[in-house]
Amino acid sequence: MRAEIIAIGSELLTPFRQDTNSLYLTEQLNQLGVEVSCKAIVGDQREHIAAAARLALTRSDVIIFTGGLGPTEDDLTREGVAEALQLHLRSDPKILAEIKQRFESRGWKMHANNAKQADVIAGATVLPNPNGTAPGQWVSGKYDGRDRMIMLLPGPPHEMKPMFETQCIERLRVKLPAQHIATRTLKIAGMGESQCDGRVAPIYKRFPDVQTTILAGPGEIQLHLRTHAPWAQQAQDRVDTLVDAIEEELGDCVFSDNGDSLEQIVSYYLQMRGKTLAVAESCTGGLLAERLTSISGSSRHFLGGAIVYSNELKTKFADVPEKMIQEHGAVSKEVAAALAEGIRKRCGATIGVGITGVAGPTGGSAEKPVGLVFHGIAAEDGTEVVERNFPGDRQRIRWFAAQQALDMVRRKLM
Ligand code: AMP
Ligand code: MG
Repeated sequence: MRAEIIAIGSELLTPFRQDTNSLYLTEQLNQLGVEVSCKAIVGDQREHIAAAARLALTRSDVIIFTGGLGPTEDDLTREGVAEALQLHLRSDPKILAEIKQRFESRGWKMHANNAKQADVIAGATVLPNPNGTAPGQWVSGKYDGRDRMIMLLPGPPHEMKPMFETQCIERLRVKLPAQHIATRTLKIAGMGESQCDGRVAPIYKRFPDVQTTILAGPGEIQLHLRTHAPWAQQAQDRVDTLVDAIEEELGDCVFSDNGDSLEQIVSYYLQMRGKTLAVAESCTGGLLAERLTSISGSSRHFLGGAIVYSNELKTKFADVPEKMIQEHGAVSKEVAAALAEGIRKRCGATIGVGITGVAGPTGGSAEKPVGLVFHGIAAEDGTEVVERNFPGDRQRIRWFAAQQALDMVRRKLM
């Protein structure tokens, strides 16, 4: 069963308004076991709407339009879809009366344009809209010998969502084979996207019935796995088996298989091991501490630390020797180690972390380019420094750096 979503509205083709309806609809359809195979955004032109509808009818079983059901001249979804289906529009007197009534109840006079909101495609089921004036429409029938379900839903999300939930889900469900969906999300740190895919692809290729989506962000890869089966347990067993196989391949690079963030995992490990943490941050400017303290209960194991952006404060708050900074530079493995050791001692923590690097876009040199970051971690068994060269802009580099530091703490506690 293939679905296609067509968002109508010229505003969705500008930089100012985004099509969010299709994200919601995709999630809903997936939960019903229906994959979305195509999405489109079409401006308010009748001939373009009709062309998109004709194409969708050739390839998709379920076609959902959102938007373009309003009262204004540019709302042309009804007209475009009717043209593609080669069906007539007729004015529904009951809907017209309801729209009039809606206006009158507020003491307003109905504008002539609103009358077109009562136009219904021949044979369509009208979907009432208690949250607005534009009713939706459901059309099902055979086109070129194939069964098609077509929905016209309003554009405003607060009208579209309740209409889909109350009017469309049940209608769809009775037409679908019984399906249960199972999903799992794996989160991975410490490897790049292509490296991860290279190792995981041979595994998930053995599970063609499980849909695998790989989402890469700075310092983190997410693998979203989803499958459906006639029985719930069958679907769950299938994704779980794939999760086990991937975890075996990627080992400790998988930091979560239940959606937890890296900071949540670090918090959980600190708590479990009875350890405490302190940080001295230069180029991340407090981002690491911010992420650690975003977790409720973090006061039990995160002691605090210092933002030591200037050389003076690296010495004053984390005891980094002035001479060391002069000799090696503030961005160096020596200073990262000294920051970690200094802050650990000053705060009386079991683990100390130090971060120093060049976040850019200015301040880079041939020897120390933008993106170069040193991460120090100090604990009772000694100090370790990891040097990384992160790509991207200032924000991305800083996020990468915080992510790397969190991952080092995680590995230390494993
Ligand atoms: P319409 O039904 O075309 O009159 O749309 C009315 C309003 O709904 C638009 O101005 C947008 O604010 C919103 N809207 C329409 N389509 C979408 C969409 N695909 N995603 C999010 N908002 C939308
Ligand atoms: Mg519109």
